[in-house]
Parts: sequence; C-alpha cells; structure tokens
Amino acid sequence: MGTPLSPTAIEEYLRELPRRVRWRLWLSGRRYRVTRFADRTTPLIIVAHSFRDAAMARQVALVAEQDWAGVPPQGRASYDEILFKAPGLIVVQLRRKNICGCLGHRHLFVREAPFSEPHDAFGGAAVGELDIAYGRIATWQALPLSDTALDAKFREGSRLEEFHAQQFRLRLLSVLVHEINHLVRPHEPEDSVRERSIAFYREALADYVENAVATMSFTIDRSFSRFG
Ligand SMILES: [Zn+2]
Repeated sequence: MGTPLSPTAIEEYLRELPRRVRWRLWLSGRRYRVTRFADRTTPLIIVAHSFRDAAMARQVALVAEQDWAGVPPQGRASYDEILFKAPGLIVVQLRRKNICGCLGHRHLFVREAPFSEPHDAFGGAAVGELDIAYGRIATWQALPLSDTALDAKFREGSRLEEFHAQQFRLRLLSVLVHEINHLVRPHEPEDSVRERSIAFYREALADYVENAVATMSFTIDRSFSRFG
C-alpha cells in the first residue's frame, strides 16, 4: 500500500510527472480535473479533457459534487453497491462527440497515459476508464415524451433556460453512473443497466421539477395576492 488515495495525492502526482511527460501532455492540450461524488471518498473521478473543454470538465465536476447530492436518496441508493465496488480511480475521457455516436463507453483498458500503469500515488487502487460525449448528451432525448411535456411547466425565458441547464446536468450525471455501472458489472445486460440509469434520471428530474414548480407557484401566489 502506498499513500492513501485522495484528490490532492492525484493532483500532486500529475504535477510531479517527469518534466518531459508533463510537457508533452500540456502541449497536446491535455488537462485533468479531479473530483468525486459529494458523499463518497471513492471513487475518485479524473476528468481527462482538452483545454478547449475546460468549462465542460468543470460542469462534470459540479455534477458529481453538487447535482449528485441533490438527487433523492432512493435514486442514489440504486448505485450504492456499484459505487462501493467501483475501481478507486475512474478516468473519464470527456469528448465532444464519439465517432460511433454513442453517449459513452466503458473501456477495457486504461489508455489515458498518466493512469495506464500502477503508481504509488494511487494507493493500490484499481483504475478504470470510460468516456462520455457531452455534445451527444446535449441533444439526447432521454425521455422523449415527458421531457417535452415538462417544458410547458416552465413556459419560456430564464426559467426554461435554467430548467434545460439542469436537465443537461442530470443527463450527464445519469450517463456517468450508467457507464460506471458497465465498468463494475461488465456482464449485466444493457437493458438492465439502462433501466437503472433512466429510472435514476426520471426520479432526479421529477424531483427537481416538483421543487422548482413549488417555488414558482409560491412566488406567483404572492405577487398576485389580493391582500398585496
Ligand atoms: Zn449502456
């Protein structure tokens, strides 16, 4: 066993790579952001991305740190065992698009150079890798019928924009846990993996909508109050 696994240990490891390796990565535009799910010490998630996608990598980190925490407990519980058994380190290659047009994949081998060989900084943790294509996720109709029906609740303008931003983040989150599910249980059939992630997304979205609508009608009731 090496040092205990932590975001700091990984960030330090990346900073202390041999100069030549560090420069090669930097010049190729490769960047890393380390994050994890709000309520868990592991897995550590390393968002590997191009410098052009830095803002999106930040979104992925916020999705794990904040949006995950906002998902109703039963939704998070459906991934308890999967996250418990997940490799200690998960490299997420963030892409705009995949040639195949998929939302994401698990990888059989770790290809991301700094993580493809074991290292003391990993504290003996296993490393897994997957990719997610955020451009594809942005246009993905996760729940074709109810997604559009929900739009009506927010009418137009900033409320609707806010809703679409949240919807996108919850999709990112559901694709992330979907691919981690594949990584941890490579033999579980796609139907079953998808059912879990779609249920997770549906619940998370419904909960968000319920809260947002409750806040909105409260505001409207007050502004139209005949005692006002
Ligand atoms: Zn799948």
